[in-house]
Amino acid sequence: MHEHTYDQTHVPQSPYGCDVHTHTLFSRHAYSTVGECVSAARSAGLQLLGSTDHYSCMTSTTLHVRDYQYFINFDVWPRMWSGVLVLRGAEADIVDLEGHLFGWDIRLSEGITGRAFSHQLTLQEYVWRNLDYAIASIHDKTFTESATCTQTTDMYVRALDDPKVLILGHSGRSGVPFDVDVVLRAAKERGKLIEINEHSFAQHYGSTTHDTCRHIAERCAELGVMIATGTDAHIACDVGRFDKTAALLEEIHFPLELIATRDAQTFLQTCEHAIGPLPAGRPQ
Ligand SMILES: [Zn+2]
Ligand SMILES: [Zn+2]
Repeated sequence: MHEHTYDQTHVPQSPYGCDVHTHTLFSRHAYSTVGECVSAARSAGLQLLGSTDHYSCMTSTTLHVRDYQYFINFDVWPRMWSGVLVLRGAEADIVDLEGHLFGWDIRLSEGITGRAFSHQLTLQEYVWRNLDYAIASIHDKTFTESATCTQTTDMYVRALDDPKVLILGHSGRSGVPFDVDVVLRAAKERGKLIEINEHSFAQHYGSTTHDTCRHIAERCAELGVMIATGTDAHIACDVGRFDKTAALLEEIHFPLELIATRDAQTFLQTCEHAIGPLPAGRPQ
C-alpha cells in the first residue's frame, strides 16, 4: 500500500478534498479513535472526513442492540471538527442475494438500557436513523458462491436502492463477479457512487483485483458514472493517503468532474441529491 513509515511532521497532502471511507477502533480490527482520524485528516489537508465503521456481524458475537449503540449517539460529534467537516457513516454488509443489508431482519424489542420499545424496530432502522450515509459492501461472499451473474448483478442494484446507501464499496475486491456495466448504469441513474478503494490496491490482493478495479474505473469514465475515493484506512496514518488511486486515475485520464470526492461541496451536493439532506440538516 505504501512504505511502512509515517512521520507526523511530513504528511503527504491528499489529492482529493474528501476521504469518505475510514474506520475507527469500533471496527475492532482498526486502531485509531475518531479524534485521531480527524487530526490525521486535517494534517493531510482534507476538507471532509467520512467515518464509516463496519456495521456488520464482524463486531459482535451476540448481535445484541448494545453492540451497535456506537451508531446512535453521533450527535455528540462536532460537525466541524478541527476545521474538518466530519460525516457519520457506516460500511454495511450486503447479506443476501436480495441485496439486503445487515440487520434488516434483526428485530429489536428493547433499547440499550433494556427498556422495551413502544413499537418494533429492526436493527437496521435503529442504526439508519442517525446515519448520514452508508457504504454497501461484501466481506463474506459465501452466499454468492452458487449464484448466477444476473443474481449478483441484481443484488448490487438492489443494495443501491436502499435509501441510505450512497456508495457501492470495493466491488472490485469482494471477489463476486457481476455485470459491471449494468451496476454502473444503475448507480448513475440513482445519482449514487462507485467506490475506488485505495486499500484494494494493496499488494496482497494481487493483480487480478487490481485489474478488476481498473476496469471498473475505466467503465465509470466511459459511462459517465461518478466515483467516491476512500482510503478504507484502519489506522489514522492512512487517512487521506491515495497514492495508488491517484496514480491509476491519472493513468487512465479519469475526468475530474466524475470524482464526487474532489471537494467537500461536490460530495455534499451529490449526497443530498442521491439520499437527501443530512439528518441534522446541512452543516453551516
Ligand atoms: Zn470493506
Ligand atoms: Zn472498510
